[in-house]
Amino acid sequence: MAETRHTKVLIIGSGPAGYTAGVYASRAMLEPILVQGIEPGGQLTTTTEVENWPGDTEVQGPDLMVRMQDHAKAMGCEIIGDIIVSLDTGVRPFVAKGDSGTTYTADAVILATGARAKWLGLPSEDAFKGFGVSACATCDGFFYRGQEIVVIGGGNTAVEEALFLTNFASKVTLIHRRDTLRAEKILQDRLFKNPKIETLWFHQLEEVIGEDNPKGVTGVRVKHVDTGAITEIPCKGVFVAIGHAPANELVKDVLELHNGGYVTVKPGSTETSIPGIFAAGDLTDHKYRQAVTSAGMGCMAALDAERFLAEHQE
Ligand code: FAD
Ligand code: NAP
Repeated sequence: MAETRHTKVLIIGSGPAGYTAGVYASRAMLEPILVQGIEPGGQLTTTTEVENWPGDTEVQGPDLMVRMQDHAKAMGCEIIGDIIVSLDTGVRPFVAKGDSGTTYTADAVILATGARAKWLGLPSEDAFKGFGVSACATCDGFFYRGQEIVVIGGGNTAVEEALFLTNFASKVTLIHRRDTLRAEKILQDRLFKNPKIETLWFHQLEEVIGEDNPKGVTGVRVKHVDTGAITEIPCKGVFVAIGHAPANELVKDVLELHNGGYVTVKPGSTETSIPGIFAAGDLTDHKYRQAVTSAGMGCMAALDAERFLAEHQE
């Protein structure tokens, strides 16, 4: 039978923001429920070394997220493997429906749904997703041992993916639409020094080429952004690393948003445009988008929720 669970604080999302909110809300004796979503642990579970989490010179992303989960749990946070499919912000308590059939009612909600990989939107990209086209080198790099690979993008993710893929590939071509990278200088340095990596500037992916039987990628057609000249590059794998979009589906029609979909919070706070709904992490942040800033905002959201609940006690 479908179950209804009530909590003072419902935390939606299990990245650094969600788990940190879980730690703080638990220590405030709010007995929070945290719903993990489709990607328990969030984006850091899709990477390898994290080198900028304070206190760890180097830590594997998935290990760090297991530690955060264990920490939240140890403080008393109830962690549930479910996906929230709808959130009614017009009633009190708020009502969230889980994919499992469970209904969650909550006096306050912390949104920490983070961000998801962006795609270019090409039909051929879609056709070969899972058959040579990927947005996660950590997940799929192993399949390309001894093969040629292209990576699209010029940010930290693209450069890290290109570097990581050299562990498997015979050659990696980084294709970028400009001639300067957004990636941190230390990563750029490693990229330019790596003999397996070639960069192709001022090019956009035009089409992924492949065959149907067996289904797989054989190359890409790329276009020069100024001249329009087309070049074909043979490859077996295409890694799209052009950034991430905020996962705002639950609230995009009811909350104020900015910069193409990030949830707006009051400056210096995690309060959204609806009292009692708080937002933290990459969902709100188009600028910093780091594990440590997300964790910081998770802490703020729990403290803001605690204050809100104290002020609104019946
Ligand atoms: P996320 O980590 O995006 O987690 C979002 C969570 O919300 C997930 O658990 C998801 O399952 C859940 N969720 C979404 N929708 C729902 C729903 N409907 N119901 C329930 N749950 C839901 N940052 C660094 O500081 N250092 C790094 O080295 C670094 N490396 C990175 C490498 C890669 C490949 C990527 C992609 C990012 C990297 N980042 C790094 C950025 C960092 O991962 C993010 O800034 C951080 O994870 C954001 O945390 P978050 O808690 O806001 O959300
Ligand atoms: P990002 O910084 O937004 O970079 C996206 C890249 O993709 C940009 O170079 C952009 O080009 C390119 N791009 C976007 N749309 C494109 C399109 N339609 N066609 C071709 N190219 C396109 O995204 P990210 O690299 O995923 O990083 C996201 C956040 O996570 C950042 O804040 C980053 O610092 C953080 N992160 C941190 C680490 C780390 O600390 N080690 C690792 C990974 C990610 P332009 O440059 O021309 O705009």
